[in-house]
Amino acid sequence: MNPVKWFLKQAFPEHFRTEEEREQAKIEIEKIQYRARYGIVNSKLKCKYCEEVGSVHYRRVYKKTGFSTGKAVAGLITGGTSILATGLAKKEGVAKFYCGNCEMSWEGIQ
Ligand SMILES: [Zn+2]
Repeated sequence: MNPVKWFLKQAFPEHFRTEEEREQAKIEIEKIQYRARYGIVNSKLKCKYCEEVGSVHYRRVYKKTGFSTGKAVAGLITGGTSILATGLAKKEGVAKFYCGNCEMSWEGIQ
């Protein structure tokens, strides 16, 4: 289906002609929401709990970890320029996994 047409259908489901189309769109929207929440399925990943291959969702999240006092002090000394240069909070990437089969979720480094 034409992506623009598809998008319009997602945005304005009330304009759907048939019940079937409406159902189809609902499924698609659910898939998108699922992806946004759990990430996309990586077909090569194996679940470490149930050992199912192809049901593991993977996404990478960046969370801010803590406040660096050292950087804050350096920032005060240099008049704030180093705060601008480095930022006070450092970001750390974490891989989040979720298994659609056994519904377990875990974190890792990947
Ligand atoms: Zn599993």
